[in-house]
Amino acid sequence: MAQKRVMVTGAAGFLGSYLCERLLAQGAKVYGVDCLHTGQLANLKPFEGDSNFEFVEHDIINPLDIQVDQIFNFACPASPPHYQEDPIWTWKTSVLGVMNLVELAMKYNARILHASTSECYGDPLVHPQPESYWGHVNPIGIRSCYDEGKRAAETLLMDAHRFKQADTKFIRIFNTYGPRMRADDGRVVSNFVVQALQGVDLTLYGDGNQTRSFCYAEDLVDVIFLMMAKDNFVGPVNTGNPGEFTMKELASLVLELTGSKSKLTYRPLPQDDPKQRKPDIRLAKEKLGWEPKIPLREGLKKTIAYFDGWLKSQG
Ligand code: UDP
Repeated sequence: MAQKRVMVTGAAGFLGSYLCERLLAQGAKVYGVDCLHTGQLANLKPFEGDSNFEFVEHDIINPLDIQVDQIFNFACPASPPHYQEDPIWTWKTSVLGVMNLVELAMKYNARILHASTSECYGDPLVHPQPESYWGHVNPIGIRSCYDEGKRAAETLLMDAHRFKQADTKFIRIFNTYGPRMRADDGRVVSNFVVQALQGVDLTLYGDGNQTRSFCYAEDLVDVIFLMMAKDNFVGPVNTGNPGEFTMKELASLVLELTGSKSKLTYRPLPQDDPKQRKPDIRLAKEKLGWEPKIPLREGLKKTIAYFDGWLKSQG
């Protein structure tokens, strides 16, 4: 059987690097594409010298032409402070970038799986969120470059499937955490863990009663591969852990597991910050036979161990 040729965009990012690792273990030829805006070359270090891995430094807002059988599109900053830094570029990455990759997929009859997001539901008025919910999204706020960019990408993937018979697929990823996140990622899990380990105050935005549902990275990678392998199913499908926690609860758990003496400090709630978020994962169970296995407590322990090692390596 011919070796599978697979492109991973956002390869140097948190999730992209897990995908490359698993694909290489499966014997695929992997083209790891990244513009290194938020991706870290350190995440690709383990693949150095592997003749099946090729790093391609490229920004997907510009077309690229590599013959592949599959594309995993994980290129886009996902943390609010990072995607808000250059919102027009974020929008281009989400829309023009996906357009370029869909065209590439059509050229080579490749299958493309795109990382969409729970942000498509905005600040949801339906709880938990099923895929049939159309969302409650501000089109002109500071989160819109990401939310609306990702929603426009879903439209494009659906239309490419409907009108061009393109082999497109997408999943709506809810909050994900784990080893290899950036310490300065800016999202709540990495912030709290790093703050607790450094003994500085944990920064709670707003009153800390807003909720999120956190999925451990390895659980998410499982469902990504199940979705890529599934025929006749474009999506959307929610992929996340339905365990729901307030940010105050998360802070207490991080303090307990690190044994840190850090205190809590309150900061203003960012604009349009969703009040609640929890995936309805019945569709993922039914279509893909998937549900997450790693509870927050267990995943946090592994994440804490990772950041502890990382901080020590920084001196
Ligand atoms: N948050 C917080 N402290 C932080 C970082 C984030 O309380 O240091 C809050 C943030 O306001 C939001 C939740 O944690 O309500 C999750 O934020 P994150 O940026 O991780 O993801 P998203 O808002 O995209 O779900």
